[in-house]
Amino acid sequence: MSVPAPSPELLGGPCLPQRRELRTAVPGPRSLALAQRRSAVVAAGLSSALPVYAAAAGGGVLVDVDDNSFVDLGSGIAVTTVGNSAPKVVAAATEALSRFTHTCAMITPYEGYVRLAEELAAITPGDHHKRTALFNTGSEAVENAVKIARHATGRSGVAVVDHAYHGRTNLTLAMTAKNMPYKDGFGPFASDVFRAPTSYPFRDGADLDGNPVDGPAAARRAIEHLERSAGAERLAALVIEPVQGEGGFIVPAPGFLAEIARWCADHGIVFVADEVQTGVARTGAWFASEHENVVPDLITTAKGLGGGLPIAAVTGRADLMDSVHPGGLGGTYGGNPVACAAALAALDTIREDCLIDRARAIGDAAGGRLRALAETDPRIGDVRGRGAMLGVEFVRPGTHEPDPGLAKAVAGYAHRAGVIVLTCGSFGNVIRLLPPLTIPDELLHDGLDVLAEALEAAR
Ligand SMILES: *Cc1c(COP(=O)(O)O)cnc(C)c1O
Repeated sequence: MSVPAPSPELLGGPCLPQRRELRTAVPGPRSLALAQRRSAVVAAGLSSALPVYAAAAGGGVLVDVDDNSFVDLGSGIAVTTVGNSAPKVVAAATEALSRFTHTCAMITPYEGYVRLAEELAAITPGDHHKRTALFNTGSEAVENAVKIARHATGRSGVAVVDHAYHGRTNLTLAMTAKNMPYKDGFGPFASDVFRAPTSYPFRDGADLDGNPVDGPAAARRAIEHLERSAGAERLAALVIEPVQGEGGFIVPAPGFLAEIARWCADHGIVFVADEVQTGVARTGAWFASEHENVVPDLITTAKGLGGGLPIAAVTGRADLMDSVHPGGLGGTYGGNPVACAAALAALDTIREDCLIDRARAIGDAAGGRLRALAETDPRIGDVRGRGAMLGVEFVRPGTHEPDPGLAKAVAGYAHRAGVIVLTCGSFGNVIRLLPPLTIPDELLHDGLDVLAEALEAAR
């Protein structure tokens, strides 16, 4: 990699060696004992992908209570982009914590909130006037983006696409595509949500006349569907992930997003980029919308924003944001002062440690190795992603038939060998890589070696 390695401070300090090392079976005895206690008191509906109990984490490792060191290729689902307990985040949050923990921004505000809004105005795409409102979770940000779009347009409809994931609250579940495990048995859901086909290059193939479904063609297909099912004049917002996350790390074909955004602009539909997973340096740009030169009307952020602390934002056009009456937006905890301090420090870390370049370098290195694997392994149907957000889609050799069993087997092998990787996808057949951008090169390659081994073992 041509990019400088992460600075030593970002690697979790001298007490956290950056290596994979197992001292017990996975999970170990202490984790098993905790799992037993957990099942007696924690709701069964909450599951864990790898039930080892965390003791410390930093750089690219997570150490569990049995003193096993894991390579972290998941970042707690794209959250610890700047690494766990990044030094600047710890220092800034500690300092904020010692001054005050909460006043409620709706009662007596504080500078950190304003400062974070200034930062978000500066780093989000477009040089128009912007406003920000802060919340706690990605779902809450998406809900509020819809509220703002409805208020600004006086319309009710919300357009989303296939394979979308927007959260677990009632409205965002209506917007999320996949039934199991997210929606099953939890309805009825909010109404006036319209779902269009998306662009999924690996699965789009050709249309009925044999023409390839490229980005603009996929956009026309989505637009025609929405005009037929909803009518453009009914739609307040179109909400879309610029790279689909939970749905399978799907990168739309070039031109798809721009064409959709243009249609939205032509019809007064608020174009909302849900960058909760893709935003804040993950894809090798501040925001994934930039790769397609799209300037969203509103952007939602959360996961990577707070360096691990819960914070979320809606940032976008001042005229839309300010259409809401005073008091119309808010929440008790939104923009918590400690989380604001952490977010400001996370953004500083990204800038000072050149983590956007690092995301690109990780994408090149890991993507290259995964594509090399795909060349000789017909079970790998597709390798895709942007920056440090990479997915590998498994199929039955010679077909497009999803192979979720293989994704599960590879993840299971990796977990037992000391590598945290996650699966995703509407068909459950995608392994996704979301390493912290502070992972050292050797550790990243070690994690990829294990994935290659896992694929061999699953033959
Ligand atoms: C994770 C995610 C959400 C939901 O965020 P929570 O903080 O879990 O509520 C929404 N949109 C996208 C794209 C996500 O990846």
